[in-house]
Amino acid sequence: MRVLVVEDEPSLSRQLETALGEAGYVVDCANDGEKADFMGQTEGYDAIVLDLGLPKIDGLTLLRRWRDQGLSVPVVVLTARGAWHEKVQGIDGGADDYVSKPFRMEELLARLRALIRRSGGQARPEMRCGGISLDPRSARVTKDGAPIKLTGHEFLVLSYLMHQRERVVSQSELTEHIYAQNYDRDSNTVEVFIARLRRKLGAGAIETVRGLGYRMGDAA
Ligand code: CA
Repeated sequence: MRVLVVEDEPSLSRQLETALGEAGYVVDCANDGEKADFMGQTEGYDAIVLDLGLPKIDGLTLLRRWRDQGLSVPVVVLTARGAWHEKVQGIDGGADDYVSKPFRMEELLARLRALIRRSGGQARPEMRCGGISLDPRSARVTKDGAPIKLTGHEFLVLSYLMHQRERVVSQSELTEHIYAQNYDRDSNTVEVFIARLRRKLGAGAIETVRGLGYRMGDAA
């Protein structure tokens, strides 16, 4: 799962990047509205954390523009304390949720988890697929109740496939959602992660749909 953080205050941006990274997300940061607009429209994100007061283009304008253009990615807006009108404008402008500054990182993380889960059509906090279960709250994976140790990238691949379990995910889409913008991407490594996941979770855990991509298997 890949998240864009749009925040112009350097210390808060760094805190968000660290906390989200520790929670298992791939994170890109933008410190003004123009950069955020470009990144939001050209990269594939699973959620965006958007500050409203930004240089160049303000957050609300950005949000309305994205929604006008049909960008449906879940957005959490960061609003100033006590500014109830910002919350109303944010939600009316297409935000899916908000947190007011100053906020507890745990609260933001919980809201993000819920939004990402629901955008993938999942109601339950813990994701299950056959005998495999993945808990985004603890970043833990089990198979038939036994804990499975995954590397960061293996977890990202599995997490994305489980969030999108109703459909086939192409190799390029997977690549886009497991690497940050500045990372040297190699789509061949997706095949390597899939092979390792199959070794750890069972050969039937992930199906290859020839010519299209991957999907969580029924036999998992
Ligand atoms: Ca700001």
